[in-house]
Amino acid sequence: MLLKTMILTSLFVLLVIFISIFTGRVVAFRVKNQFWQRIIRGWLPVILIVCILIGSFYYYVYYGFGHQADIYRRADTAEKIVAITFDDGPSRDYTPLILDILKEYNVPAAFFLVGSQVEKYPEIALRIVEEGHEVGNHTFDHVHVPTTPATELAAQIMRTNMEILMATGEYPHYIRPPRGFYDARFRRLAELMGQEIVLWTLSSQDWRPGMTPDRIASRVLSLVKPGQIILFHDSGALLKNEGASRLATVQALPIIIHGLLEKGFEIVSLEELLKQGVPEKDLIWDDEVTY
Ligand SMILES: [Zn+2]
Repeated sequence: MLLKTMILTSLFVLLVIFISIFTGRVVAFRVKNQFWQRIIRGWLPVILIVCILIGSFYYYVYYGFGHQADIYRRADTAEKIVAITFDDGPSRDYTPLILDILKEYNVPAAFFLVGSQVEKYPEIALRIVEEGHEVGNHTFDHVHVPTTPATELAAQIMRTNMEILMATGEYPHYIRPPRGFYDARFRRLAELMGQEIVLWTLSSQDWRPGMTPDRIASRVLSLVKPGQIILFHDSGALLKNEGASRLATVQALPIIIHGLLEKGFEIVSLEELLKQGVPEKDLIWDDEVTY
């Protein structure tokens, strides 16, 4: 599987390079000015390669490629239900504020916890469970799954399960790889641990610099569709496990809950959402999928 993925990725990159160089030549050929011809021939392929590869990366993270039978991204339902999820916590500063809002509106959520954060703030992890929310595993150190050695990856997952179990008394039945990057080993480990891999359909993109509460809210409310799993962050930072401000997320949350209710949506737990709809798992061509 890994070899097949590497070969397909290499072929894709080669194709992108070929198309970009070809496009650069064709466009340069139409330009009369020699100076601009040289610039276009040299730089247009580079710009195209970077844009296409970054675009593909984002597409892969948010939607994946092809049918992935053991991964939940949404419920396939016309019923106006959504589930909201928070990654990277618990955070000392923001998770309690988020829990206060969820309590005020009586809304369930799922928290994908980072093991080292649970170790730091076990009482906040406990509060999440005590207030009726679900918890999932998000690895111990928020590792990049595909480049983590197998034994380390197993340790990352097991340690986090233990940490969550010890802090909350609850075994996490869900797991989400950081940034949505998984591989065949991750899938096997999740199966072995009795955990469902849950990604997301709609990212609030609250981690992006410059996102205001209004921008986060209008993004979610304009893109939301029935059966979606919505992604937020209650902790984390671009390179570290915590440190970034999640105040915009906290402030956007009441606007989003209000907006969803106004649009006739019901916010349900992940368990409820995955039960009520038909996850990718049960699609008819399930039998044909091999790994
Ligand atoms: Zn994360």
